[in-house]
Amino acid sequence: MEDNFRHKGLRKRLIDEIRQKGIRDESVLQAMGKVPRHLFMDNSFLGFAYVDKAFPISAGQTISQPYTVAIQTEILQIKRSDKVLEVGTGSGYQAAVLCEMGVSLYTIERQRALYDFSRLLLPRLGYHPQFFYGDGYQGLPTYGPFDKIIVTAGAESVPEKLKEQLVVGGKMVIPVGDRLHQVMKIVERVTENEYTELEAGNFVFVPMLPGVSDQLR
Ligand code: SAH
Repeated sequence: MEDNFRHKGLRKRLIDEIRQKGIRDESVLQAMGKVPRHLFMDNSFLGFAYVDKAFPISAGQTISQPYTVAIQTEILQIKRSDKVLEVGTGSGYQAAVLCEMGVSLYTIERQRALYDFSRLLLPRLGYHPQFFYGDGYQGLPTYGPFDKIIVTAGAESVPEKLKEQLVVGGKMVIPVGDRLHQVMKIVERVTENEYTELEAGNFVFVPMLPGVSDQLR
């Protein structure tokens, strides 16, 4: 669980790189500057933790590319008072960045191994989101509505159930497309029954899958 001066130096360089790629929200950059990304990956990947690339984690999933984490977070225009839902906890890295920004976070993962991993790691680093094991397509109707929703796996379309769990004025960021490429969509709930949709570039995420992995075995 070491985070030494070398890690901190590499992290600072990575943040500078992301800033140069166009991220402007200093609160996002500052939070990412604090979260020790190398602790979310296997030891053998230490040398890769501070390059701007996605990386394999367990259960055939990936830790998102730092630039992608930054852009999804920036799009949401996070405020400390926000109640946020994350679909796809994965390694827990994106969750840590959101917690570092002071939000109250609810995060769902469908793979037991990743749910177990992040639920142990994040509290050890001082981050305390509420963890849920299950199908993110359903959201968390009993805990909503949410000011912001972030989906970190590629969906075929924008799930209606998630739209309904936004507050009026709330925002969701979600990559939508097929298995090979997705378009980042920004969905805003403008009134009780009206939503607007904007697009923010092309990305590649692991696919969003239905159900929970235990049920599929
Ligand atoms: N936010 C993560 C990115 C993980 S990749 C990070 O920072 O590391 C996307 C994750 O979404 C994977 O862990 C995958 O298991 C999960 N996922 C896919 N479909 C899901 C669903 N229907 N419900 C919840 N999680 C899902």
